[in-house]
Amino acid sequence: MTVQPVENARHHVVVIGSGFGGLYGTRALKNADVDVTLIAKTTHHLFQPLLYQVATGILSVGDIAPTTRLVLRDQKNAQVLMGDVETIDLEAKTVTSVLLGRPTVTHFDSLIVAAGAQQSYFGNDQFATYAPGMKTIDDALEIRARILGAFEQAELATDREERDRLMTFVVVGAGPTGVELAGQIAELADRTLDGSFRNIDPKDARVILLDAAPAVLPPMGPKLGAKAAHRLEKLGVEIQLNAMVTGVDQDGLTVKEKDGTERRIEAQCKVWSAGVQASPLGKQLAEQSDGTQTDRAGRVIVEPDLSIKGHPNIFVVGDMMSVPNVPGMAQGAIQGAQYAAKQIKNSLVGKDPAQREPFKYFDKGSMATVSRFSAVAQVGKLEFGGFIAWLMWLGLHLMFLVGYRRRLQTALSWFFTFLGRNRAQMASTEQQVFGRLALEKLQEQQREKKLAESEQKAG
Ligand SMILES: Cc1cc2nc3c(=O)[nH]c(=O)nc-3n(C[C@H](O)[C@H](O)[C@H](O)COP(=O)(O)OP(=O)(O)OC[C@H]3O[C@@H](n4cnc5c(N)ncnc54)[C@H](O)[C@@H]3O)c2cc1C
Repeated sequence: MTVQPVENARHHVVVIGSGFGGLYGTRALKNADVDVTLIAKTTHHLFQPLLYQVATGILSVGDIAPTTRLVLRDQKNAQVLMGDVETIDLEAKTVTSVLLGRPTVTHFDSLIVAAGAQQSYFGNDQFATYAPGMKTIDDALEIRARILGAFEQAELATDREERDRLMTFVVVGAGPTGVELAGQIAELADRTLDGSFRNIDPKDARVILLDAAPAVLPPMGPKLGAKAAHRLEKLGVEIQLNAMVTGVDQDGLTVKEKDGTERRIEAQCKVWSAGVQASPLGKQLAEQSDGTQTDRAGRVIVEPDLSIKGHPNIFVVGDMMSVPNVPGMAQGAIQGAQYAAKQIKNSLVGKDPAQREPFKYFDKGSMATVSRFSAVAQVGKLEFGGFIAWLMWLGLHLMFLVGYRRRLQTALSWFFTFLGRNRAQMASTEQQVFGRLALEKLQEQQREKKLAESEQKAG
């Protein structure tokens, strides 16, 4: 076990996560008289809003996932540690993280927890085997390989039914991610792959977007939802609402209608973009803080200053926090983390935590792209869609990518993809499809081995 040395008397802030909350929280402490240790289980800062473009061959992994260590290279008071945080001990004020079986204990004076959320299958985790979610780079690469692999298999299929199944793509969840992904699969089939196969016509691909809710893009209201649905239908996407998924297997899925009847959709490629569950670290914190609770999605119901009860120096931000009227979006995480950093700096100059101004979220609006040249956007009471919204979407996303070179690269990729037909990132491998399942098997075997060893020791 490695114990991080506590060498000097400087206040030590530990930040968990290198997403929007973790990175912006760390940067906000740049000029503070503190040492910061950022611990994350990935080496990169991931710009999740553009994951669907990696999944559909528009952008490369590097475009949306800069290495955290390099981003923070010039911030001398920050250290980056790779590790999966398994335990937070509030009494001992330590965080224990593990990298490939090697535990590291890091002491903290203040803590910002920004470990985000995972995909939720609403208690049906077995669905994940055949319907990956889209939360990580691995997910996006797996989805890309599954989409392109399905077309490859269809080219070889001799049976009509089999070919139809291989060319049916189902996206579960009609929120922004589902809408964006379904639109891009349709455009990939219609434009990029058009003319590149000899036995199949990729334009025959069936793309289905389904949701148990009665609307598309529910958080953006009925007008924008209808606009997005109309545009998707023009692209040929079938929208199936009030349709709850009750089973997923290798060859398709079972869907229950509102009236209780069940039907089957034969589809090789399924993607899950419905529901999120906050990091289990939230539950750990709540259990150690008297009176702090988590909500149904596992998010921590934080105090008005984003701390947890009885611990004014421990903050939970981003997708892990439950704050009324703050959506699980990048802006919520960025603003929450910057607010937490400010409170830490205030406490260093002796300001009383009891006198803190509560966190106030500034809603900058939300948007989703439906296809090239078309998006929907909501800014305050203003709602609009179409080309102007799409241009706004382009500008905003470029602005929030980390680094000038990355912005330039992304702008160039968009220029060639949206004006031409080709996409530059269309490589995929068998390992991308099966790597996740193989790794899960390996982890299961290791767990069983450990259990057997400890049973042998005990008895
Ligand atoms: C596909 C997709 C599309 C999206 N589109 C948009 C959009 O268009 N606009 C928008 O505003 N928002 C969008 N969001 C939401 C937005 O990305 C999140 O709200 C935001 O990323 C939350 O930031 P966070 O810091 O809380 O979590 P994250 O950004 O998820 O970061 C969590 C970090 O914690 C690390 N971590 C997790 N567990 C541990 C652990 N145990 N130990 C160590 N490290 C850990 C992870 O590796 C990661 O670095 C989208 C999300 C997804 C998945």
